[in-house]
Amino acid sequence: MVDWKSEKYDVAVIGTGVVGAAVARAVTLAGASVIVLEKATDILDGASKGNSAILHTGFDAPDLSLEQRFVRRGQQLYLDLRNSLNLPLLETGALVAAWTEPEEARLEAVLELAEKNGVRAELVASGEVQAREPNISSGVRAAVLIPGEHIIDPWSPPLAYLTQAQANGATVLFDAEVLAGKFDGKAWTLKLPGGAVSARATVNCAGLYGDTVDQRLAGKTAFQIRPRKGQFVVFDKAASKLFTTTILPVPKHRTKGIVVCRTIFGNVLVGPTAEEQEQRSYATVDRETLARLVQEAVRIMPALAGMPVTATYAGLRPATQESDYQLKKHAGLNLLTLGGIRSTGLSAALGLGEYAAQIVCEILDGLTEISAPAITPVPNIAEHRKRNWDDPGSGEIVCHCELVTRGEIESALASALPSRNLGGLKRRTRACMGQCQGFHCTARIAEITGPHFGQKLASGVAHE
Ligand SMILES: Cc1cc2nc3c(=O)[nH]c(=O)nc-3n(C[C@H](O)[C@H](O)[C@H](O)COP(=O)(O)OP(=O)(O)OC[C@H]3O[C@@H](n4cnc5c(N)ncnc54)[C@H](O)[C@@H]3O)c2cc1C
Repeated sequence: MVDWKSEKYDVAVIGTGVVGAAVARAVTLAGASVIVLEKATDILDGASKGNSAILHTGFDAPDLSLEQRFVRRGQQLYLDLRNSLNLPLLETGALVAAWTEPEEARLEAVLELAEKNGVRAELVASGEVQAREPNISSGVRAAVLIPGEHIIDPWSPPLAYLTQAQANGATVLFDAEVLAGKFDGKAWTLKLPGGAVSARATVNCAGLYGDTVDQRLAGKTAFQIRPRKGQFVVFDKAASKLFTTTILPVPKHRTKGIVVCRTIFGNVLVGPTAEEQEQRSYATVDRETLARLVQEAVRIMPALAGMPVTATYAGLRPATQESDYQLKKHAGLNLLTLGGIRSTGLSAALGLGEYAAQIVCEILDGLTEISAPAITPVPNIAEHRKRNWDDPGSGEIVCHCELVTRGEIESALASALPSRNLGGLKRRTRACMGQCQGFHCTARIAEITGPHFGQKLASGVAHE
């Protein structure tokens, strides 16, 4: 185990959301010695734990925006990388559907922006929409088809990025909140609850706390996080037989609007809402909004009426007072902030990682790219791809709703970046995420996980 207190790292990456994970990977592969600092007990504790999981093309991103640039690049890098890291892709395409005359009139602008952004798009008449998706409401007037908008999952990509960073030398610390920092002209000393870390450069990927971390390190922040909540309803797997293509609304200025799409886990998702809130650390759902979401889903896809709901959840976008990403190079401080990555970070992460690596290479002379990096595929959790049920060590099925085996749970507990709590185990394996939401399997899971969770070092300080 590396003694992180006495080590002098090239780069400290703050946060293990999808952005921090992608940055850690890219900077490590660029040849830097990296330490990743996460205040939570496991990865994905912020915005990245609950999203719609669409791998966006950037068709609707404002022309020349940072969001447009990094979503386009991030999507391309994901498609290039996914086979080597065993990451999923459900090729659905998307229809931007117009339901009213004014919406129909705006489709031409949607098409123009997509073309400007270099994304393939075509106008389809109502009849063609219905031929493609027979269960869509007959109220659809026309749509723009975006063949390249696909579905991935929120959890295995960041897990894969960070696992690969770690396999190539990065150190990952949990329960390691960056409380303060000082730059002496050569290196940062970052104060954690249980000690201090030294790094020549720092990348702030603190998501919902991006402004707080900038304030703590640079003494000022150029943006304020204004958390924007999105509630979701997850329909039963039977619903996924009703359609293939993601149904998007005609975009509005502030939000992408309510989407009806499939998930790679075989469910159907409707959401998210866009609700401003002060609270940054948790997001609740409410009955009235969920009922409205179900109503909206049924309006778009009438056959969803009466379909059982498997789960509900809410996520928080790290939105700011601005509409674009907040990427800041702090002059003279060897500090880069990747802030305000609000609605598209899952898609843009690899592009942002590549950018961060370029900046770090400019700041720190003499880094040499790793020529043959370790490749670390993650276990598949997508329903449409092969799971490891045939492995001799699979053992019994523990979660019968999502067909999760004892072997999969044990692997998640023993992996290079093991689950550190039940939430982390659910995200890595899908256990407890099905129709019974853990009613039948939680007791068995508790037996298997036994001594694994709730352990901290005796001193209670940051641990690897
Ligand atoms: C409702 C919703 C729907 C979305 N849909 C999509 C979609 O379909 N497609 C898409 O591409 N994107 C989507 N997104 C956007 C995407 O989820 C976000 O852009 C992305 O998760 C932002 O990741 P992040 O790493 O910047 O932040 P986070 O995930 O918040 O990660 C920041 C991490 O930093 C840690 N941290 C904070 N402060 C400190 C500190 N002081 N010290 C140490 N660690 C710290 C936190 O614990 C956290 O783990 C959606 C988001 C939401 C909420």
